Amino acid sequence: MVKSKENVLSGWGNFPKQTGHVYRPEKYKDLQDILRLRSQSNFISRGAGRSYGDNALNDQNGVILHTRLNRFLSFDEQTQVLECEAGVTFGEIIEYFLPHGYLPPVTPGTKYVTVGGAISNEVHGKNHHQDGSFSNHILDFQLLVASGEFLTCSRSENQELFWATVGGIGLTGIILSARIKLMRVESAYLEVDYKKTSNLDETIVLLNEMNGKYQYSVAWIDCLSTDRTIGRSILMLGNHALQKQLDGKVEPLSPRRKRNMIVPFYFPSFGLNSSSIKTFNSFYYHRFKDASRQVVDYDSFFYPLDTLLHWNRLYGKAGFIQYQAVFPPETARMGLTELLQKVSQGRCASFLAVLKILGERSGGLLAFPRKGYTLALDIPLRGGTELLAFIRKLDEVVLAHRGVLYLAKDALMSADMFAQMYPELPKFKEVKAKIDPGCLFSSSMARRLNIVGNLG
Ligand SMILES: Cc1cc2nc3c(=O)[nH]c(=O)nc-3n(C[C@H](O)[C@H](O)[C@H](O)COP(=O)(O)OP(=O)(O)OC[C@H]3O[C@@H](n4cnc5c(N)ncnc54)[C@H](O)[C@@H]3O)c2cc1C
Repeated sequence: MVKSKENVLSGWGNFPKQTGHVYRPEKYKDLQDILRLRSQSNFISRGAGRSYGDNALNDQNGVILHTRLNRFLSFDEQTQVLECEAGVTFGEIIEYFLPHGYLPPVTPGTKYVTVGGAISNEVHGKNHHQDGSFSNHILDFQLLVASGEFLTCSRSENQELFWATVGGIGLTGIILSARIKLMRVESAYLEVDYKKTSNLDETIVLLNEMNGKYQYSVAWIDCLSTDRTIGRSILMLGNHALQKQLDGKVEPLSPRRKRNMIVPFYFPSFGLNSSSIKTFNSFYYHRFKDASRQVVDYDSFFYPLDTLLHWNRLYGKAGFIQYQAVFPPETARMGLTELLQKVSQGRCASFLAVLKILGERSGGLLAFPRKGYTLALDIPLRGGTELLAFIRKLDEVVLAHRGVLYLAKDALMSADMFAQMYPELPKFKEVKAKIDPGCLFSSSMARRLNIVGNLG
C-alpha cells in the first residue's frame, strides 16, 4: 500500500504554502490503489512543482507526486515519436535525446518541468507563433480516470476528454504517459540576433515583422521605464543553427556543460526594492547592443534562469507572484501600456518582464495560449492587503482589454474574474461532471476559482 506523508508545499513562487498528504507512487498499480482506497477525500497530481501558484497544491488533501513515474517507454526513429511516462522532465528528454539530434518541439523557460505538467498547463514557448503550444506535438496520452479505468485520449479517441485535459490543470484524471513527436535538430546551438527598441510600439511592430523570419522570439522589457520609453525592450530572435554555421568550433550536439550555481538561502526582504530593481533594469537595457548572428548554446537561449538553481529564493521567504496575461492583437497596445504604467507607478516590479507573441489557439478548453501578445512579470510579495488591491486593479485592466490570465502563474485571481476570462468553463465543468462525478480530483486552485463548486 502506498503511504502518504504530510508535507508543506508551495509552487515556484513560494506563495501560498499549504500542507498536503503527499504520495510518491512508483507503479501504475500504486496509482490505482491510491484512487481505490480513497484515504483522502480528493487528489491532485503534481509534476515538478514549477507552476508558480496553487494549481499543484491541495490543502489538507491528497497530492500525488509523479517524479518516480519517469520512464522512457519507446522511441521510433522513423516517426520521431517518443513515448514516456508523465513524470519525465524536459531536462531528461534533452539529456538523452539531444546527443542523437532530437529536442522537445516546444519548451517553456525552464527544463525542470514534467511532460504531465506541460500538458496540464498547455505550455507555450518562444516559438508559439510558428509551432503552437505543447499539445500540437502530442499524438495521444493515457489517462487514469476516477473510475479506475485507463483511457487513451487523442484528437480522435475520447476527443472531448483530450481537450479538457490539455490545459485542464490535473482535474480530469492522472496522465500516465504520452506520445510526443520530437523535433530533429542539426546542432545544440541557435543563431541569435539581438535588437533594441526604444518603446512599446516599436517592440510590437518588430515582433510582428520578425514573425516569419525567426522560429523563436522574445522581448525582455524594461518594465520600470516610463512615458515615451515605456515598453523599451531587447528582442532576442533565434533559429536553430545548422552544423555548417558552427565553423567546426564546437561539437554540434554536445554543448559544453555549465556549472549550476545555487541560491543557498532565502534572501532578506530588503534585498530587492524598487530602486535596486530599477538600477538593474536600466543597467541591463543599456548594456545591450544590437548584434547579429551570435551563436548561443541551447541552454543559455532557452533556460537562462536554470543555471541559478533555486533563484526563487532571491525574493525572500514571503515569495512572489508571476503575473502573466495575454491580450488579443486589437487591444494589446492599450492593454500592455496600461499594465506597464500601473506597474511602474506602483513601483512593485520586477527583474523579469518578458513579452512574447502568440499564434493560434489549440482546442484546450482552459488552455491559456491564444493569438496576441503575452506579458509576464515577477511581483515580490510584500504589502499584504495593499498588494492584493493592486493586483485586483491589474486584473481589471486585463479584463477591460479582453485579456486572459495564465493559470500556471496564478495564485490570486477571483472566481468571478476567472469565469469572465474563460468562457469555456461551463463546457469544461460538463466534461468533468461526466468523467469525475464525485470530484475525486480537486486542488486548491480548483476550489479558489470555483471550478469544482462545493463538491471539491
Ligand atoms: C522559470 C520558469 C519559466 C517558465 N516559463 C514558462 C513558459 O515560457 N511558458 C509556459 O507555458 N510556462 C512557463 N512556466 C510554467 C511551467 O511551464 C508550467 O507551470 C508547467 O506546467 C510546470 O510543470 P510541472 O511539471 O512543474 O507541473 P506542476 O507545476 O507540478 O503541475 C502543473 C499542473 O499540472 C498538473 N499535473 C502535473 N502532472 C500531472 C499528471 N501526471 N497528470 C495530471 N495532471 C498533472 C498539476 O495538477 C497542475 O495542475 C515557467 C515556469 C518557471 C518556473
